[in-house]
Amino acid sequence: MSDLCHRRETCRLCGSRKLTLAFKLTPTPPANAFVAEDKLNVAQVCFPLDLFFCEDCAHVQLLDVVDPKALFEDYVYVSGTSPVFVAHFKDYAADILERFNPPKDGLPEENLVVDIGSNDGTLLKFFKESGMRVLGVDPAKEIARRACQDGVETITGFFTPDMATRIAKEKGRAAIITANNVFAHIDDLTSGSC
Ligand SMILES: [Zn+2]
Repeated sequence: MSDLCHRRETCRLCGSRKLTLAFKLTPTPPANAFVAEDKLNVAQVCFPLDLFFCEDCAHVQLLDVVDPKALFEDYVYVSGTSPVFVAHFKDYAADILERFNPPKDGLPEENLVVDIGSNDGTLLKFFKESGMRVLGVDPAKEIARRACQDGVETITGFFTPDMATRIAKEKGRAAIITANNVFAHIDDLTSGSC
């Protein structure tokens, strides 16, 4: 476990070292790590679930950081399987386009939408249907491959400053950038990398 997980000593939000253990749960395997029938007898890797409270900013957090590659490269959760979530993203895309009103037939950089942690492209599909150019970024290899197959161009990897530079250079600067349900997974919030 040690090479896949390390414990940080500072609050991931404000950097404070005044952290107190608030709630200790039993160590557990990663969420969504479904086990195939032929592997049921193989012990799963478990990670600590100790919840800490920051005395300076009140952020409650896990301090044990699991290697994001171990968590996300073979991720199995896909957004498109939840009808409620799909409907939410449809409304979400429509709401953003109405509020920010980017020109759909404008210059390339005026109509690009980038979604960080784009999963299977569920959100981007709605932007694409509305005439926007779309680009997803997601570390889950198989899910990103399927999103590409479904017509949503997706870069496989973690969103980092280097990747942002690459996207800006190759695709232009995005008019809209979305990121949903991803901040909770980020260890280094300052660099933006997972
Ligand atoms: Zn803090």
